[in-house]
Amino acid sequence: MAKRLASAAPLAAKWRKLAEERCAEKGERLTPARLAVYAELLTRNRPLSAYELIALLEQRQKRKIAPLTVYRHLDFLMRTGLVHRLQSAQTYLACDRPDHAHESQFLLCTSCGHVDEVESRGVKTLLSQIANERGFRPDNAVVEVKGLCGSCAFGEQD
Ligand SMILES: [Zn+2]
Ligand SMILES: [Zn+2]
Repeated sequence: MAKRLASAAPLAAKWRKLAEERCAEKGERLTPARLAVYAELLTRNRPLSAYELIALLEQRQKRKIAPLTVYRHLDFLMRTGLVHRLQSAQTYLACDRPDHAHESQFLLCTSCGHVDEVESRGVKTLLSQIANERGFRPDNAVVEVKGLCGSCAFGEQD
């Protein structure tokens, strides 16, 4: 009998296909266990700490999961660009544009926890210019901006 697949959060065919393509580009395979981690992050649509993620996966799969395994899958998902890690909060977020490689900026709401991923060519160009002028060779330019999202900022005015 075939080994039972790790049960995963339901994922629209379009997202699954995009994710599989990204993995294939890197010569990697989206195994059911990797897919389960990605699907959980994507359907929650908010940043999760590794421990929140493990708890959700255990709940869904009704079994204990070794943290090390989840960290390994997260490393894989970050390598393929399907998941981003927010350095300041040490949380993980599914990328909402997995169809291409990119450097993002993140707007983090400190009130409701919402994160907006933006991809600004202007910011990218400016950062490379600044680095160039100093002879600095950046290899990873993650920008995280903390503040209040539109609805939290608006609510504050009441
Ligand atoms: Zn992204
Ligand atoms: Zn907010």
